[in-house]
Amino acid sequence: MGRRLLLLGPPGAGKGTQAELLATAVGIPHVSTGVMLREAVAAGTDLGRQVEAVMASGELVTDDLMVKVVEDRLAKEDAACGYLLDGFPRTVPQADALGDGAIDAVVLIEVGDEEIVSRLLQRAAEEGRTDDTEDVVRRRLEVYREQTEPLVDYYRGRGLLRDVDGVGDVDEVLARIVGVLARNGAGTP
Ligand code: AMP
Repeated sequence: MGRRLLLLGPPGAGKGTQAELLATAVGIPHVSTGVMLREAVAAGTDLGRQVEAVMASGELVTDDLMVKVVEDRLAKEDAACGYLLDGFPRTVPQADALGDGAIDAVVLIEVGDEEIVSRLLQRAAEEGRTDDTEDVVRRRLEVYREQTEPLVDYYRGRGLLRDVDGVGDVDEVLARIVGVLARNGAGTP
């Protein structure tokens, strides 16, 4: 128990980086729906073709499709002893579909709006994501506020949420995450 974790936070909060480091430290698979979908797009699979345009616009893929993708992933053997979810659930219906019993702790990485927009634009430039224009970046943030942020209260109300300040060095933020998880025994076997 205690090894089924979820990282929550706005796009550009450093979630992906932290999720990768934390999953390695805890010894659980990093389940990132963004990575899975981008791989599907790159490989030109049916799934990739279905989600490509929606992803490029900054909107969300449908709940039904995402629930199916994640159910299939969590049914794999490596997820039997725990997992770190990154990018899912992204809406209340997705959280309902996952069920409370599937999560031991939720870490919210907090970063202010202006910091996020500047980080996202920098990332878009670095990674050559030329379609990540300022409009799309701002839309991603709006979508987060409208559809994903309600999950903060959803999980806080269930006593699962831990807040972490996401401003600082990668190592510093990772140490904060490990610290809040250790405090309630999550992230340990
Ligand atoms: P991410 O890398 O997590 O920001 O995801 C990139 C894009 O993939 C998002 O902007 C969405 O279009 C799509 N996506 C990833 N995860 C989900 C999800 N759980 N629900 C809906 N869409 C998602």
